Order: sequence, then structure tokens, then C-alpha cells
Amino acid sequence: MAFAYKTREHVAETVQNITESSEIPANEGGAECSQQEKDIRECLRRTKQALLLSETRLARAQKIACMGSWEWDIASGDLYWSAELYRIFGLTVGEPATITMEWLYTRIHPLDVVAFKTAVRNTVKSGVALDINYRIISGNESEIVVNSQGELEYDESGCARLISATTLDITARINAESKIQQLINYDSLTGLPNRSLLHDRLHLAIAQASREKQLLGVLMLDLDRFKSINETLGHRTGDKLLKAVAQRLLACIRDSDTLARLGGDEYVAILAGVAHEEGIATVAKKILAVVAEPFYIDGNEIFTTCSIGIATYPTDGEDSHTLLKHADLAMYQAKEMDRNRFQFFSREMNNLVLERMMLENSMRKGLERGDFFLVYQPQIDARSGKIFGMEALLRWHHPDMGLLPPDRFIPLAEENGLIIPLGEWVLRTACRQNKAWQDQGLPLVRVAVNLSAKQFGQYHLDEVVASTLLETGLDAEWLELELTESAIMKEADKNIALLTKFKEMGISVAIDDFGTGYSSLSYLKNFPINRLKIDRSFVRDITTNPDDAAIARIIIDIARSLNLSVIAEGVETRAQMQFLSFNNCVEMQGYLFSRPVPAEEFAELLLNGLTI
Ligand code: C2E
Ligand code: MG
Ligand code: MG
Repeated sequence: MAFAYKTREHVAETVQNITESSEIPANEGGAECSQQEKDIRECLRRTKQALLLSETRLARAQKIACMGSWEWDIASGDLYWSAELYRIFGLTVGEPATITMEWLYTRIHPLDVVAFKTAVRNTVKSGVALDINYRIISGNESEIVVNSQGELEYDESGCARLISATTLDITARINAESKIQQLINYDSLTGLPNRSLLHDRLHLAIAQASREKQLLGVLMLDLDRFKSINETLGHRTGDKLLKAVAQRLLACIRDSDTLARLGGDEYVAILAGVAHEEGIATVAKKILAVVAEPFYIDGNEIFTTCSIGIATYPTDGEDSHTLLKHADLAMYQAKEMDRNRFQFFSREMNNLVLERMMLENSMRKGLERGDFFLVYQPQIDARSGKIFGMEALLRWHHPDMGLLPPDRFIPLAEENGLIIPLGEWVLRTACRQNKAWQDQGLPLVRVAVNLSAKQFGQYHLDEVVASTLLETGLDAEWLELELTESAIMKEADKNIALLTKFKEMGISVAIDDFGTGYSSLSYLKNFPINRLKIDRSFVRDITTNPDDAAIARIIIDIARSLNLSVIAEGVETRAQMQFLSFNNCVEMQGYLFSRPVPAEEFAELLLNGLTI
């Protein structure tokens, strides 16, 4: 039998009607009510009031909590619904007047009906508490998510009698959770899985490929020259291109495959369930072809290509990190050989070459990501103990290898040409920092920036330096460029012209590591330079090794005769300081005064001075 419309409010109302109309039989003779009758009436009235009050409270509490309740009589199939439950379902309270389980099933999302029935059946059969999330179709046909929790109640003979449950609208919570999930796991630009979800998916794909004895292809791809597209057409167009590329890539893979974006213009595709490498190569070819088709964005016809590196499971690695690393290396190789091609990872690649490639690759990304930073080491005048300058020194916070000193990566950057953008970044950052300190009212000091020979020889360095000063607002007198002897000597005539331009601009130039290269005095005389830096290898044993002491003295003399300043680097002890001061070299830099320190610490030194 279907239960008649029954909410708790309705029950309360019914009680009220019954009691109001119920005639308590008059006693015989129609005389006034006996005391006993009066007591019964009073008791009934109080009970009714208490019941009404408790029902009203319950309804209010349910409303506040947005929680409905229901009871299902197992034997009869009767379903009792609270008013709040009608509201949760987007229905007018009492419509429909009769609620059955069959009707309820029609309001549950078709994909969740089986789960709901199973959960209810389990509760009835085994007495486990009911706890299930499911979607329902609300009165206005919108979809909401609810959670029902309930318990089984038994009759006196111990048989399951009814399920008493609550239902809560959890749509907002689920939406918030899925938004968080979306933020954690997906790339906000393209909506594709991000690096973190990629690792999870790859992990699962590896497990499945291992069970089913199948191949897995990991394709790492990167757009060729995306940076220049971004720079010429702007970031908005660049972003649209990245989205359009994602759409084309999705069209090349199956629904069961994963396409992720790692950031920038890097994508990874996981191809599962492949029988042969040829299958993977076919997809790679397809990708190259669709990416090479022109894109039409914001009225621009954009041509681009991509390079693809492929690693396969199990041949090229058995875990997600190794596979991604090898796909990355193969991609890098594809770019090196000739762009717009794909390349399978090859084990023949020598380990050292691999390491270098990795480093080179991550250096590129590190520059974009901001993994590089500068530390500053004070240069002091030993007579006054005052800081008159500082040297900016580069550091790399590598995501996997930790903090790397310049010796570990500058030679590589010089070889692969990255020293150019890296060097420009150093120059800009050092000038901007110095200007910021000056604007804060800190003492005015000169910042020395190291230039590599590659930077010196390759392009219009004077223009780069001039525009950096203009951009950062730093006055030329507060910048010094440090160059090594060999850098200057390489194309001496050309370099004299460049150094002259620096001099005209008001920038000073120091020769770094002086004494280690071959120094031709006649040349030195012609170079418009300001300062010699005695290499720290001579300073180290200056008080114990007579040869080093002699060289240091000679350098100081040369400086004096050429009318140049001289500074000693690598001063670590008081004895070294005293020797140098005694020999008229008063400018010093070294651990004795301070190690190179991060910008914030250097500002403190500028403000409070050094204590040695
Ligand atoms: P450098 O220009 O001769 O810099 C001085 C080096 O000596 C720095 O090493 C500094 O930390 C270290 N040093 C300073 N005081 C002492 C001391 O008292 N004792 C000892 N043992 N060492 C001291 P760092 O920072 O590792 O730099 C090494 C080299 O890397 C630099 O030698 C420079 O040639 C190069 N470098 C650093 N930053 C840059 C940069 O931004 N661009 C270029 N092209 N080269 C850079
Ligand atoms: Mg230097
Ligand atoms: Mg040096």
C-alpha cells in the first residue's frame, strides 16, 4: 500500500485536528465534567502542545540545516517524507501527496539509481549504515547532489522494520570540491590535466600496460619557436594558440589516452594499449601534420611546428619519472637535429651528453620560471671599512639538484648561447636592484656585473647596456662591468672600441681574475679600463708564498703606473688584509668581510655597515 501524504508537520496537524474534535464523553446525567475527565483533557492538551512544539522545532532545525528526513517501512513499502525533503527536491510541500520508492527512483539520476538501490538493499540485508551520495533531478529539472545517511531499525522480534534516514543537499560542497580538484589537477588555460595529474595517470597506465603486457608510449612535445610568436603577437594570442593546439592534439589521440599540459608550450600524451612502436610513430606523424597546419587567431595566420620526443614503456623506463625524463631528452634531441620531427629515445645516448642536455633543457625552463637569482658581495675600502661597491653573483635554484654555483652552469650556458639571455637578465636585475636601494635612501654604491666573453664578443653589447640603464633608471656611474683578460684580448681592436663606448657612457670596467691570463702591458695601456681585480688564487697564499706576494705587488704597481684602481678578491684573513693594505691595495672583497648574500641581507649591510 502506498502511504498517504505524510510530513511530520502534517502528522502534528492531524493530531491537533483529532484532539480538537475528539469528544470526551460526558458523564452520566450530563452533569459537569468530573475531575478525572478534566485531568485527561488537560493531559491531552499538554501532550498535544509538546508534540507540536517538538515537531515545529524539528522542522525548523531541518530547514536551517537544509536537511530532510525520511523513513521507509520495509514491510509495507510506506515512505514518510519531511517537508524539508520536498524543498530539497525542489517540490512544493505535499506535492505529490503520495511518495513511493518507485517514484523516488524516477527522480534519481539514471546513472545513480543502481547504486542507490544497492546501498538500500545492503542496509536492509546486513544492517550496515546507509551512506551514499547520489544525484537527483530537482523539480526545476536541475541536477543536485545529495547525501543520505540512515540506520536500520528492528521490531521486537528482531526483524528489519524500517530505515530511518536523513538527506542533505551537498551540491555546493561537491562543486567546491570539484573546483579545488580542478585547480589542483588541471591546467587553467587549456583545461587539460596538469603535471600532477599526468603523473597519476601515467602511474595507472604503467600498471595496466604491465598487467596486459602491452606497450605504452609517452610523447613529450614542444612547439618550435613559440616564444617568438608570443613576443610578436602578444600573450593573449599566444594563449589562444596554446588552446587551439590542445584541441588539435586531442583529435589525434583516443578518448582513453591522456593529454596533459606541463606549462609553457609543453604537452605530454600518454598512448596506452599499443601493440608496436609503429603505432606510436603513426600518432606522432599525425600530430606533426596537424600542428603544421596554419592556425587562424585574431586575424592572424600563424604557422608553427612542434618537436616530439618519445619514450616507451617498458623499454625506456619502468616508472613515470624515468619515462618522462627520457621523452624529454628525446624531444630535446629532436629539436637539436632539426625541428618539426619526432625522435624515439635511444639508449646509445651517452650519459654525460644526457646530463648536459638535461641541464641545458632545465636551464631554458629555469630562466622562464625564475629559478635564477643574484647574491651580492660587498667591496670595501679597508681604510674606512666602508662599503663602496658590490659584486652581483649568479645562483641557480635548480628544482631537482638544489642550489647550483655559477661554475656548474656558466660554461654550459656559454656553449649553448643561453648566456646571452641569462647575462641580460643578470644585468637588468642588478641595475634594478641597485636603483631600488638608492630610491630607498640607502648609501650609494656601485654594482659590478660579470660579463662572459661570449656576451662581450657576440652582439651590440653597448646598446643592451645603454637600454638596460635607461629601463632601470640607474645612473651609469653606479655600474661596473667585470671582464676577464682573455675576453678582452680575444679581439682586442674591436673591444677597444666597445670599451671606449662604455667609458663615454660613464660606466666603469674592471678586469676580473687579473694575473691568470696573459697580460700584455702594451695592450693594457690602450684599454680604457678603470680597475684591476687581483685574482683570489694569488691572495690565498699571499702571506706564505713569496711568488704570490711578488705577483700581487707587481699587479698593484701596474695599476698604479697605469693610473687604475686595484681591488683584491678572496680576502679571507686579517693577515691577508694587512699585507694588501701595507702594499697600497685598499679595496678588498672576500669572506673576511662578508660572503655573497641575498638582496635583503645586503640591504641590511648597506644600512648598518660591516662589523669585522
Ligand atoms: P668571480 O667573478 O671571480 O667572482 C668571485 C668568486 O669568488 C665568487 O664565486 C665568490 O663567491 C668567490 N669568493 C668571494 N670571496 C671569497 C673568499 O673570500 N674566498 C673564496 N674562496 N671565494 C670567494 P662564485 O659566486 O661561485 O662565482 C664564480 C665565478 O662565476 C665568478 O668568479 C664569475 O666568473 C662567474 N660568475 C658569477 N656570476 C656570474 C654572472 O652573472 N655572469 C657571468 N658571466 N659569470 C658569473
Ligand atoms: Mg667577478
Ligand atoms: Mg674573480
